[in-house]
Amino acid sequence: MLDVRFLYRTTLGRRFVAAIGIALAGFAARHAWQAERQSSALRDEVKWLRTRLADKREVIARQRQEMSRVAGAVDHLARTTSALGERAAQARRLAHMEQSRVETPGILSIAATLDGGMSIESEDAGHALEELAWLEGQATAASDSLVVLAALVKQRETEALHSVPTLWPVHGLVTSPFGARTSPYGEGREMHPGIDISARYGLPVTAPGNGQVIFAGRDAGYGGLVIIDHGGELDTLYGHLSALYVREGEPVHRGQALGAVGATGRATGAHLHYEVRVNGTPVDPRRYLVN
Ligand SMILES: [Zn+2]
Repeated sequence: MLDVRFLYRTTLGRRFVAAIGIALAGFAARHAWQAERQSSALRDEVKWLRTRLADKREVIARQRQEMSRVAGAVDHLARTTSALGERAAQARRLAHMEQSRVETPGILSIAATLDGGMSIESEDAGHALEELAWLEGQATAASDSLVVLAALVKQRETEALHSVPTLWPVHGLVTSPFGARTSPYGEGREMHPGIDISARYGLPVTAPGNGQVIFAGRDAGYGGLVIIDHGGELDTLYGHLSALYVREGEPVHRGQALGAVGATGRATGAHLHYEVRVNGTPVDPRRYLVN
């Protein structure tokens, strides 16, 4: 058996123990250094993870922002299209097209594209926004056309309104009303198909509404005669004229002079014989005249 105390006592023994001590110290130092290195790597990893987390948070925030922008754009487009629908309805109302299901192709294609666009689950919010911006442009363009269309319809409506013979062709007393009357020529009861308006000889007789001259000439009974077609099967007649200022086929506008008051044909004095005919049947002109 080797006695340790003996070994220690010997020079060789002391060296051996010292060597073991150094080895142990070296081992401990190495272990400590490794632990330090590991913890440093760990700190780095944590730092990197924190950075990634921050990045992810930023991405999420950006996505949320994009989503809210897309939602806002969709909202705006929805409002635009609903305004468009209202304008279309207004245009249809003005054009009296309530019964018809006529839609402008522009609106239909926009609605179709909108539906298609909504079903596309695009990941790219930017692309979606671009598409929405384009759609909005289309909607605005269609809306503008509708405004123009509505204005045109309104204009046509106004024109139609201006065609109705509501103005007095000449101002004066009505000396003979429309309907059954005693003949001024002593021929018993007769039907007077218009009204006689007393007016000074030569005074201008004006168009009570827009229309087209369908007769301008002489007639045995009516004398100098002008007939105006106002559209909608509505005609007006002006009799006993002393002069004619219009020709057949000529368009006339409200207030335009057609001829001059006279006593031509079967007339007892200067006056205008004025008739309104609906589908060729004389009606009381006073129904149309606005005071
Ligand atoms: Zn008359």
